Amino acid sequence: MERKRQTVAILGGGITGLTAAYYLIKEDLPVNIVLIEQDSKLGGKIQTYQSDGFTIERGPDSFLERKVTAKKLVEDLGLEHELIRNATGQAYILSEDHLHAMPKGAVMGIPTDFDAFEQTTLISDEGKELVKQELTKEKMEPKDDLSVGEFFRYRLGDEVVDKLIHPLISGIYAGDIDRLSLQATFPQYYQLEQKYGSLIEALRETQPNKASKKPKQGQFLTLKDGLGSFVDALHKAIEPVVDVMLDTEVKSVEKDGNGYQIQLDDNEKIVADQIISTLPFKASKKVFNDPELFGQVLEEENTSVANVAMAFPYEAIEQLPEGTGFVVSRKGDYRITACTWTHKKWPHTTPEGNLLLRTYVGKPGDEEILHKSDDEIIDIAINDLNRVFTIKQKPSFQVVTRWENAMPQYTVGHIGRVNSLEKSLKDKLPGVYVAGNSYRGVGLPDCMDQAIEAVNQIKNNHF
Ligand code: FAD
Repeated sequence: MERKRQTVAILGGGITGLTAAYYLIKEDLPVNIVLIEQDSKLGGKIQTYQSDGFTIERGPDSFLERKVTAKKLVEDLGLEHELIRNATGQAYILSEDHLHAMPKGAVMGIPTDFDAFEQTTLISDEGKELVKQELTKEKMEPKDDLSVGEFFRYRLGDEVVDKLIHPLISGIYAGDIDRLSLQATFPQYYQLEQKYGSLIEALRETQPNKASKKPKQGQFLTLKDGLGSFVDALHKAIEPVVDVMLDTEVKSVEKDGNGYQIQLDDNEKIVADQIISTLPFKASKKVFNDPELFGQVLEEENTSVANVAMAFPYEAIEQLPEGTGFVVSRKGDYRITACTWTHKKWPHTTPEGNLLLRTYVGKPGDEEILHKSDDEIIDIAINDLNRVFTIKQKPSFQVVTRWENAMPQYTVGHIGRVNSLEKSLKDKLPGVYVAGNSYRGVGLPDCMDQAIEAVNQIKNNHF
């Protein structure tokens, strides 16, 4: 007897939901697929804005090539000819109104080339001495998890952590390094330390091309027309098979026999056999309405930031240094946390004769920034930037994007909590899977890997 076709519902149409839909189709299982998205468009945090020859990313601007999933999917969609690699150049750290060149050989801020590190004007002699002592420092007592701050402060001292490592890491996680889980973010550094003793020695041994004299190649990729075109291509690929419901909010999910009833905002109900929820954790927690089960995977409020893109005619800025941008040292009274010269890093985004700067404004504890007007946010950004170069006029146009609670904070113990959530789901809500940036990585390829894992679980556990 032929088995009845099952229904898989994918909640959320960001990159995780779209990737899940795409690979579910590839599995060719006997299923109907429905994807439910509250917004009027797909893509979630991926939002590309194009105007007058500029391409501006309100959210992510690129993905790491090394984490292969994203590039592979771009190729699968036939978009490989549109891939663009970032241009490299000098990166800086802003501290006390000076831009200090990023020391050569630093890996995520961890110095590996002591001759180059000796030259940096960012770190005091005492701070440099502590770094040198890392080579002979005992490895840490084994721990299930600890904060990124605790680990690096022990190995390298406070100064390097606050001035070098924190600004780079908060460019990805926008959080407090002293609460951020090492296991959930950089487990490889802990493993290297446990294996080699010295982290610096380990990086010298294991970094690819460490002796290469070839110019450094960019590690990030984007698409010619922005990441929005990736979303559009995915939408086009899934549309013939998947029932894509836009402008439709999932209100609740209730267990119903062996399946689930999904209540939508228009009073409609959908019955599904399996569910992949890619909603941000708080939204999942709300719709499944089981606080005990969902517990405290993400304990804290997520961080909120504003992304500010500003275009200028070339002559509007004086003394803009050669390079691609800076991150801001932790200590200090700046309200911006980073600035990229986007016209340098991604020249295709900016018409000839123009400059495009992208800054991030706001950090944990400075959420009130989101309640300011666009003009106020622009003034704050320009005020800070004017401390290092001279901006002579207002931007010719700007795009301000407020990201409220958008950056999940993986605090210490995060992975243990995700593991126990997944185990409880198996027992209490079989057939429900969670994936996306609240759980096992925030980068686009990490989110996509989680989507593929959820599809594999459905295939292996239900067919
Ligand atoms: P989301 O994109 O948040 O998608 C979830 C979807 O669920 C949304 O579309 C939402 O509308 C929908 N939804 C929520 N509730 C409901 C409901 N009740 N019913 C129906 N739908 C609902 N990563 C990189 O790799 N490179 C970068 O350069 C980079 N830069 C970033 C810059 C910023 C400003 C931000 C915020 C993130 C950045 N990231 C970057 C991280 C990356 O963009 C995200 O981790 C990733 O896009 C998350 O995808 P997702 O599908 O898991 O979640």
